[in-house]
Amino acid sequence: MSRFWSPVVQTLTPYVPGEQPQMQRLVKLNTNESPYGPSPKALAAIQEQNNADLRLYPDPEGKALKQAIAKLHGLNPNQVFLGNGSDEVLAHVFAGLLKQARPVHFPDITYSFYPVYCKLLGIEYQTVPLGEHFEIEVSDYKVPNGGIIFPNPNAPTGRAVPPSEIEKLLSRNTDSVVVIDEAYVDYGTESCIPLLRGATCPENLLVVHTLSKSRALAGLRVGFAVGHPALIEGLERVKNSFNSYPLGRLAQAGAVAAIEDQAHLEESSAKVIHTRTKLVAELTALGFDTLPSTANFIFTRHPKHSGEKLYQALRDRGIIVRHFKSPRIENFLRITIGTDEQSGELVAALKEILT
Ligand SMILES: *Cc1c(COP(=O)(O)O)cnc(C)c1O
Repeated sequence: MSRFWSPVVQTLTPYVPGEQPQMQRLVKLNTNESPYGPSPKALAAIQEQNNADLRLYPDPEGKALKQAIAKLHGLNPNQVFLGNGSDEVLAHVFAGLLKQARPVHFPDITYSFYPVYCKLLGIEYQTVPLGEHFEIEVSDYKVPNGGIIFPNPNAPTGRAVPPSEIEKLLSRNTDSVVVIDEAYVDYGTESCIPLLRGATCPENLLVVHTLSKSRALAGLRVGFAVGHPALIEGLERVKNSFNSYPLGRLAQAGAVAAIEDQAHLEESSAKVIHTRTKLVAELTALGFDTLPSTANFIFTRHPKHSGEKLYQALRDRGIIVRHFKSPRIENFLRITIGTDEQSGELVAALKEILT
């Protein structure tokens, strides 16, 4: 605490990211990173950019990357907004689109960064409880609002809603922006991006993606939003009032190559899905109750053991998972899907802990 902090800084409760421990020989299943490397083509492109051109500013508009994203998703480049990780994209979305007279609505159990942006930016918010089985029920988002945002699949539950439900939501909710955070979409969830193609693109749907999870580039910091050109223009206004060069030359070059290597993404996502299916079955055999997940993590609890205790016992064995001390979910563990080998170590440790 310092008397020089601004009044708003004194009130903040910042987001706490999952730890990045320095210990060796750790099974790190706590921050939903990919257990597989990024596209070798992305690494080569970064190497190639790592040259004397670094004395020059990067392209402030990221034209080549917007082009690559637009091509992959069947959109126009003016429907693409880029940011230094999707967390930065989300910050601009809150500032530029969700700061309205009415409160923004999001689930009570969701990405814990959303309320943090609201506090920083002075945005009122209202949480909408998840259903009995921790599902998002779009019919619960009926009251007038300043915007709606949720991840699909939701985090940390891993549960997804189909795009047809989001279309229903859009048809009712025409006076505010609906933001779908698709950070984990590549592990078996149907994307909403097709809704944005062509002349029928809704004015008020924005979809946010990251290269940190399925493209295994969390260290590069690249995220993007896609939507109606007018929404994108609003975000560009915010970005150019904050930092005109959020993505460096290395990030832009690596991201273009990663986006173009869809085969690499599909291969590593398929491996993750395979490991997830196997892990869920093994946990079920141990008595765990796991929510249906289409993410690269699962949300699971054991009827006889507290989440806190299991988290600590795993930690003592060098296995790091995520545990949230929040109402309704304090007995759950959020476990990132790692390699088959890491999964095996996790299951062996749990067997030991439970006996
Ligand atoms: C990981 C994550 C992000 C942020 O990813 P970046 O690394 O900042 O691109 C955004 N939303 C959700 C729901 C996430 O889990």
